Amino acid sequence: MSIKIHTGQILHFLSAVTHEYFPSGALVTEDGKVVTCGDKESLLARYPQADITDHGERLIMPGMIDSHVHYPQLDVIASYGEQLLDWLNNYTFPAENAFKDPETGRSTAQFFLNELLKNGTTTAMVYGTVHPQSVDAFFEQSSALNTRMLCGKVMMDRNAPEYLCDTAESSQTDSQALIDRWHKKGRQLYVVTPRFAITSTPEQLTAAGQLLKDNPDVYLQTHLAENKAEIAFVEELFPERKGYLDVYAHYGLLGPRSTFGHCVHLDDQDLKIMSDTGSRIAFCPTSNLFLGSGLFRLHHQPSPVSVSIASDVGGGTSLSMLVTMAEAYKV
Ligand SMILES: [Zn+2]
Repeated sequence: MSIKIHTGQILHFLSAVTHEYFPSGALVTEDGKVVTCGDKESLLARYPQADITDHGERLIMPGMIDSHVHYPQLDVIASYGEQLLDWLNNYTFPAENAFKDPETGRSTAQFFLNELLKNGTTTAMVYGTVHPQSVDAFFEQSSALNTRMLCGKVMMDRNAPEYLCDTAESSQTDSQALIDRWHKKGRQLYVVTPRFAITSTPEQLTAAGQLLKDNPDVYLQTHLAENKAEIAFVEELFPERKGYLDVYAHYGLLGPRSTFGHCVHLDDQDLKIMSDTGSRIAFCPTSNLFLGSGLFRLHHQPSPVSVSIASDVGGGTSLSMLVTMAEAYKV
């Protein structure tokens, strides 16, 4: 048993609204796992045999969490001058095609994870591409670093270039195989990932709902009500549904393990449904601003909905959660 003490300023959070701060603090670990933290003097006295590392006045805090980010889009950050749908067609889809080669996945995942760690982010909910090998490559690299990552293969069977489309059936089989290979292996967790309602047929959304039923402890991520042209297109594709959110509700995709990126244009009735089902929002300020999607109303909560903060790189412009929070503050 090896006990270590790291001394410095300690900041950590006990709930969404309460925190503890020790200006002269210490963090105690046993065999690499955190045991306790608190005031330096009392912990040094309690563990006289510990190995001590002094970090001076540096801040020691839990890792940041990025709840919506696309690792294959690192190279399209800051691509010029489009709103969502053109941006996807002109920049994102061509870039994602390279991930059919697992070597591209491996090298990009390694670079991406190192960049996250440099920015203090130790957990993220991540989109792969349509290629299952992009998710294998990502989880392999994350396992090697022992980072806690959530990732999923994008499901996309229409309104995208043919070279990036799967089918309802193949997306279900491939996602299930990835769940069997990776979900809860060490710190890796699987996220069922239909890109958004525009790029999935009703059959594929049914398959996504079935994956959640068959695997009740996996997660779900997708995009919702990001951009006005996107919303109009969804309403055209699903005229029988009451609106964008109702498409996902109909296919059984809402719930406390589901995180919806953006949600810039939800109305009060939508927010009530999000609240009632425990569904969660990923607020992506740099992306909403860069793509001109609109201003997310963080404080407009007629019904309480859990909101996390997210970089949404490559629509977003920084992997730093500090930069992302600063932009959220300006909104
Ligand atoms: Zn996104």
